[in-house]
Amino acid sequence: MKEYSFKKNDEIILTIDDISDDGSGIGRSDGFIFFVKNTLPGDRIKAKVMKVTKSYGFARCMEIIESSNGRCKARCSAFEKCGGCSLQNYRYEKQLEYKYNKVKNDLIRIGGISAEEVEEKLLPIVGMDDPYRYRNKAQYPVRMGKDGKPHAGFFAGHTHSVIETDDCLIEPEINSKLLDAVLNWMNKNHVKAYDEETGKGLVRHVLIRHGFTSGECQVNLVINGSKIPDEAGLIKMLTEIMPDDLKSITICPNTRRDNVILGDSYRTIFGDGYITDTLVGITFKISPLSFYQVNPVQTEKLYGLARDYASLSGEEEVLDLYCGIGTISLMLSKKAGHVTGVEIVDRAIIDAKENARINAIGNSEFITGAAEDVIQTMLPGEGNRKTPDVVVVDPPRKGCARSCIDAILTLSPKRVVYVSCDPATLARDIKIFREGGYELMKATPVDMFPHSSHVETVVSLSRV
Ligand code: SAH
Repeated sequence: MKEYSFKKNDEIILTIDDISDDGSGIGRSDGFIFFVKNTLPGDRIKAKVMKVTKSYGFARCMEIIESSNGRCKARCSAFEKCGGCSLQNYRYEKQLEYKYNKVKNDLIRIGGISAEEVEEKLLPIVGMDDPYRYRNKAQYPVRMGKDGKPHAGFFAGHTHSVIETDDCLIEPEINSKLLDAVLNWMNKNHVKAYDEETGKGLVRHVLIRHGFTSGECQVNLVINGSKIPDEAGLIKMLTEIMPDDLKSITICPNTRRDNVILGDSYRTIFGDGYITDTLVGITFKISPLSFYQVNPVQTEKLYGLARDYASLSGEEEVLDLYCGIGTISLMLSKKAGHVTGVEIVDRAIIDAKENARINAIGNSEFITGAAEDVIQTMLPGEGNRKTPDVVVVDPPRKGCARSCIDAILTLSPKRVVYVSCDPATLARDIKIFREGGYELMKATPVDMFPHSSHVETVVSLSRV
């Protein structure tokens, strides 16, 4: 292996040609990889080396010698400091092009699929018409500022100092008013924000979630304790802002000293403690601790594709692995004979069952457990389950466990629909499916998180 002698403070010239998972630019000097924040593919820069490890380094951009043709002005005033939206200064069509190519290159390089086949089967990426204000959920940390007053905002990249954002452009506009109401209530009642160093102070986070279809809103205050002063005052200030649509205010105690945001329980001080919303034709009941897709507009498109790729006739037995709160299972149950959802988080399975009940869906069943374990109990000779005709997987970023894929191959369903949030592990897993007798039929990337470097992909695989 080539020896490199880069050291801290060296000045280097880099051409940025890629983007890392956290949205930094990637460039090479003499073949050695450097990560540089706030740079974009196509930039030619002068940079200073910050840190070097054996196989890569970090550098800071000192000067942009030649600017990327995709660079634009970020709309958000907090862009440079905030830890979110690392690609907001990259034109949206360039973001989409980058994400499409990432999926394409991973399928070729990691998946071992020929470039011709990928060209033929990878369909255009599904972007957003308006890639702003798309998130239905926000979690704002609250911390005391140098002015002795509480502030709410977002964490700066890789730190826990709060950047004040009066208006985050990927969240609903009304959130800033709701946050102001919480801060006003804190000032009026001399309530201190939480301090991570000392473990003192009361208010840790404000969580706001909107049902984009229903218009309903919930506010959840995470506190370092169990009680707040002047509950009535807080309720009044918040409901004045959304008199009709604010349906739930809850208090969630969390006295842990680590950086886990939510506590384990909550107390409702206003409304029913939950909101409802509709997604893919199903009504969901969403409590403050429930998982729910954060970009509902794109989720409709992503899961719509999963439904198309499953191509159900009404009779099939479907197995939905990594089912979360059962979004995909319940959507498919309307077009299938029977659906079984499997998910490791018990709370999500409780929600999935409740969602099946309120939608009067009788042909679904939900099992708590690791997909790779539960599926072993479904293999031929183990009990008397019907063998699935279609298997859907929607795993976390690390992809499917090898033992899970092996078990799917043994079950040998007609079709596998793979919903992925990481193209690299997707490509790795597709390789195993192809070696196990499945053909890649088509794949579509979907942009669920504009201005971040993440991309989701839906894939249809058919038994040869
Ligand atoms: N399809 C779901 C979301 C999938 S996200 C929805 O629409 O809501 C991935 C899910 O996999 C998460 O809910 C996570 O809790 C679950 N998970 C992670 N590891 C798992 C495992 N080994 N077995 C089953 N589920 C797992």
